[in-house]
Amino acid sequence: MKLMTCSIDGRQRIAMYVGGATVADLAATTDCFPESMVALIEQWDDWKGSIESLAEQAPRRSLSDVRVEAPVPVPKRDIFCVGKNYADHVNEVKALGYGSIPSHPIVFSKATTTVNRPDGLVDLSADPTETTDYEGELAVVIGKGGRYIDERDARDHVFGYTLINDVSARDLQGRHVQWFLAKSIDGYAPMGPVILTEEAAGNVRDWRLQTRVNGELRQDASLDQMIFSVPEIIATISRYVTLQPGDIIATGTPAGVGAGHEPPVYLKPGDEVRVSIEAIGELVSRFV
Ligand code: MG
Repeated sequence: MKLMTCSIDGRQRIAMYVGGATVADLAATTDCFPESMVALIEQWDDWKGSIESLAEQAPRRSLSDVRVEAPVPVPKRDIFCVGKNYADHVNEVKALGYGSIPSHPIVFSKATTTVNRPDGLVDLSADPTETTDYEGELAVVIGKGGRYIDERDARDHVFGYTLINDVSARDLQGRHVQWFLAKSIDGYAPMGPVILTEEAAGNVRDWRLQTRVNGELRQDASLDQMIFSVPEIIATISRYVTLQPGDIIATGTPAGVGAGHEPPVYLKPGDEVRVSIEAIGELVSRFV
């Protein structure tokens, strides 16, 4: 199933995408339905058995009548991100001083205030270096939390998958050494539009991720090209940090970022970036 956070009549609530530009307003079916995606994830064992039948009873709303929010509009803590997780991307940014293929996952974070609506505007004026770049990525939403999660059990801890654009100000990455500020400008993480739940996901490594800038195909990769798989990433992070329901992990970007071009091609006001994985949908962002 595909779950969304939508503002309906001015209130944020959980909806199920039912196809044909229509959502089912789950919160309208019962007063006790969780009010946020994180609350639903925390209470998932109580709701997963009945949510499909609730969706059948729920009032339908046209997507044009609701405001689609990021699926997790306010994460409880920073977004975990994996850097340099595709070999072709590592090679394209090598000349910029980002080094070689990692032997262990590189994990950094983005501030929660980066989260942006799927069709929200990204304000480039906050980057004084004018080197803002896109990074289309698969994001994992954690369901059941835990520490010392074994790779073989990792998918039991996944609630679902969404799309994220790990928007990055390249020159700030170098200027401040740590990548946090360069990747944490307000609004620099468009996310969504849906969470595809784990039980509907099938084999993630068969998926293909594409990013288009103003219609031009810039990134086109199989998720099988990830250096560290989703289970390896979950095992690595949870070895040190207790994962919690609703945590978000951005799994890295493939080759084709603007910085990899010669000369680099950075985003400018008026650009539209479209990140897609067929199973999940499309994340479209406009830069202003
Ligand atoms: Mg990234």
